[in-house]
Amino acid sequence: MPKYIFVTGGVMSGLGKGVTTASLAKLLQLAGFKVTCIKIDPYLNVDAGTMNPLIHGEVFVTDDGGETDMDIGTYERFLGQNLTAEHNITAGQVYKRVIEEERKGTYLGRCVQIIPHVTDEIKRRIRAIAQKSPIDVVLVECGGTVGDIEGLPFLEALRQMRLEEGIFNTLFVHVTLAPIVEPVGEQKTKPTQHSVQELRRIGIHPDMIIVRCKEYLSEESKRKISLFTSVDYDGVISNPDVQIVYEVPQILEKEGALSYICKKLQLNFKEIKWDSWIKFVNSFLNAKDEVRIAIVGKYVSLVDSYVSINHALIHAAAAQGVKIRSKWIDAEELEQKPELLSMLKDFHGILVPGGFGKRGIEGKIMAANYANMQKIPYLGLCLGFQLAVIAFARHVLNLREANSTEFDPFTPHPVIDLLPEQRYVKEMGATMRLGGHEIVIKEGTNAFKIYGKKIIKERHRHRYELNQAYLKDFENAGMIFSAFSDEGKRAEILEIPNHPFYFATQYHPEFISRPDAPEPIFVKFIEATMQRKLSIQQSVVLI
Ligand code: GLN
Repeated sequence: MPKYIFVTGGVMSGLGKGVTTASLAKLLQLAGFKVTCIKIDPYLNVDAGTMNPLIHGEVFVTDDGGETDMDIGTYERFLGQNLTAEHNITAGQVYKRVIEEERKGTYLGRCVQIIPHVTDEIKRRIRAIAQKSPIDVVLVECGGTVGDIEGLPFLEALRQMRLEEGIFNTLFVHVTLAPIVEPVGEQKTKPTQHSVQELRRIGIHPDMIIVRCKEYLSEESKRKISLFTSVDYDGVISNPDVQIVYEVPQILEKEGALSYICKKLQLNFKEIKWDSWIKFVNSFLNAKDEVRIAIVGKYVSLVDSYVSINHALIHAAAAQGVKIRSKWIDAEELEQKPELLSMLKDFHGILVPGGFGKRGIEGKIMAANYANMQKIPYLGLCLGFQLAVIAFARHVLNLREANSTEFDPFTPHPVIDLLPEQRYVKEMGATMRLGGHEIVIKEGTNAFKIYGKKIIKERHRHRYELNQAYLKDFENAGMIFSAFSDEGKRAEILEIPNHPFYFATQYHPEFISRPDAPEPIFVKFIEATMQRKLSIQQSVVLI
C-alpha cells in the first residue's frame, strides 16, 4: 500500500515548494524507496499549455505530450524519471470531468457538490497514479498558498485522505518562510505561525514544517515554531538559500528530514546511496572556469520562463567542470538598437530558445545570422531552429523576404510553414505537435557524431516546421538537415558543417536533460563555447 506525503505552502508563493517536494522525493529514492510526485494546480486551466510563461513560468512537456507546470520538470530532473500528463492535476481537469459525468447522468437524482463529487474526483486521480505501478511513497504538492479560495477543495480532499489512509500512511509537510528583518537581523517566525493556524482552521495539522530562510534557523526559532505550531522540534526543518537547487536533498537530510519522515511513516531504510548525486553537485560547486552564453529571447524578465534550458546548460557544463554565466538578452531591444548586436561577440556561445508570436522575432533572426557570420557557437531550440532557417534563407540564399507563415502569412518564401495536419486546427489547448517522437539521424553527419546513434527520442511542442521545398537550396549553400522524423516528413536537426558549432533542433532537448545524464547536444555546445573561450584567450596572448 503506498504512503502519501502532502506538501502544502504557506506565507507566500515562490518559496520553492517544487524543489522541496522533489528533494524529499530524491532523499526517499536514494534511501531505496520507489517514489513518484504529483503536482496539483488549483487553477481552472485544464493544463499549463495556454498560459504565459512570463506569468506562470515555463510550460514543461512530458514524453506523453502533456503540457504541464514547470514543477513536473523539477521532479523529472531530480528523480531521473519520465512522468506523464496525469501527474499534473488541475482544477480545470477535475471540474471538467465532474461536469461531463453530470451530463452523462452518472449522478442522476443527486445534487452535484464540491464535497463529495469534486473531492472524490481529486482523490481518484491521486490514487490512480499511486496504483499505476508499484510505489512506496507518493509525494503530492498542492500549488498555491493555504487560504487561497481555489485551493480549498484540494486541501479538503487531502484532509479526507489522511482519514481514509490512516496516520501512518500519510504525512503533511508545510513549507513556509521565515523572513529576516533588517537591520536587527532577527528571524521572524510569526508568518509561519499564522499560516499553520490557517491550515489548522481547515482541519489539517502539519507533521513537519520546512522553513525557507536566507540562513539556517536558529535553535530558538525552531523551538518557537515547534511550540506555536505543535509540531515536534525534530519536525521543524531549515531550508536555507543555496547556490544550486540540487544541494537541497543533502541539506534536508542533515536537518533530519528523512529519519523524521521514516519514523512517522514507519518506513525502514539502511543507507542513502549518495554517490552519483553528490558527484554531480560537487562538479558544479567545484567548477572554476566559466563560459559566457547569450540567450536571446522574449520572456527574459522571469528566469522561470526558460527553467529547463538553464538546467540543461548547468548539467552539461558541470559535466565538463565549468560554470555557466548566462545573460538574457531581450530580442526586441536588439531589434530597436541593432548596434547592440556587436556585443554578442563577447560571448562564447549564443542560444535562441523556443517561443511564439511575432514580438522580438527580427532581433532573434539577427542574432542567428550574427552567430553564423562571426563563427560564434550557436544552439537554436524549436523557434531557434526555425529562425536559423530564416536567417540563412535571407542572408545566404538571398531570399530577402523569407519568413515563417507564423509571422508573415503572405511571405513569397515560406521557408517555415504550418504542419499540414495543423491547417484545420481551431482550438488552442493541447493541439500542437507534442511530446516524444522518434528521430532518425543521418549517418556521416555531425549530429550523428554528437548522439553516437541513429535513433533518438526527443520532445516537441510546435505547429510550424521546415518547408522541404527549399531543402536542396539550403543544402547546396551549406546548411545541412541531418535528422528527420515521421518517415522523413519533419526536419529535426540542422547544422552548418563549415562552422565551429552551428546546430539547431526542431525538438526541445532541454526537457530530457538530467543532472547525471546531460543531453548530448548541450554537452557539445558547451564544449564549443569552451573552445571559443580558449581561442579568444590565445589570440589575446598573441597580440
Ligand atoms: N512558434 C513556433 C511553432 O509553433 C515554435 C514553437 C516553439 O518554439 N516551441 O512551431
